[in-house]
Amino acid sequence: MQENSENTKENFIKNLIKAAKEEIKSISTTTVALVLVCAMVSVLALNLCATNAKINLLESEKAGLADKLTDTENKLNNNIEKLENSLNASQQESANKDGIIQNQQNEIQNNEAAQDKLIEDLKEQIGNLDLTKSAASRSDSEINSIKNSIAEMELTIRDALGYSDKAQILIDALYVKVDEFQDVLDRYPDFYPAEGSIGSPFGYRIDPINGETRFHTGVDIGYVEGSPIFAAGKGVVTFVGFHSGYGLYVIVDHGDGLETKYAHLSESLVKVGDKVGKGEYIAKMGATGRVTGPHLHFEVVLNDNFQNPADYIL
Ligand SMILES: [Zn+2]
Repeated sequence: MQENSENTKENFIKNLIKAAKEEIKSISTTTVALVLVCAMVSVLALNLCATNAKINLLESEKAGLADKLTDTENKLNNNIEKLENSLNASQQESANKDGIIQNQQNEIQNNEAAQDKLIEDLKEQIGNLDLTKSAASRSDSEINSIKNSIAEMELTIRDALGYSDKAQILIDALYVKVDEFQDVLDRYPDFYPAEGSIGSPFGYRIDPINGETRFHTGVDIGYVEGSPIFAAGKGVVTFVGFHSGYGLYVIVDHGDGLETKYAHLSESLVKVGDKVGKGEYIAKMGATGRVTGPHLHFEVVLNDNFQNPADYIL
């Protein structure tokens, strides 16, 4: 019995030891497992830390990039704004230029319209000029006034149109009138055609030969035999010949029904058909015909009516 008991105890102890060993073994295994778990957790934690750090880094980088992006966006916006401003400025400038060009075009058109109006006005004024009448009136003041008007008109044309073709057309039209005016001035017998003194004026007088009252149809200019006689105006010689009263005489036709007669000549220097200018030397003074001495009998005839030559003298 005792031996059994001893065995039992021993077995019990053995079992206890065995159990303890098992326990220890189990504990060891658990510990190892725990250690392993701990290690794994540590690794995971480390990894987590690393990941966190990475995340932080990435976030930091992200923030940096976001800042950069914002910065770039701002820069781009600034550039866009600048470009837009520049574009607006260009468009405004272009619009202004268009406006200036339009204004210039309007101005040119207005100028052209004003110029055309002026040209029409001047044409009408020139067309209406009746200078021949003024010239025929033989009034000094009227002739001078016409000359001034012509000069003023020419200045007006030159001021407005310079030396353009349009100006030239008007100037030419004006000078046609001026030429007509000058032609009338040239044709009019406005000076006494010989040197000498007026012996007998135009009109009724006592005849120096028979003492009767007679109408004197011209003026007598007495000077020396052979002294020069000039055409009193531009014209055409229509007669050279003798007459008992007039002696040798010449008639010059000045147009418009106006003639001059030069009588008692000693010699004629012209023939019928000759064109003579005002002041041209046409004859020599003499005493042919019914005279008491050498003199020029000078007549002015308008439409076959005797005129007082003094009325034509300027
Ligand atoms: Zn006479």
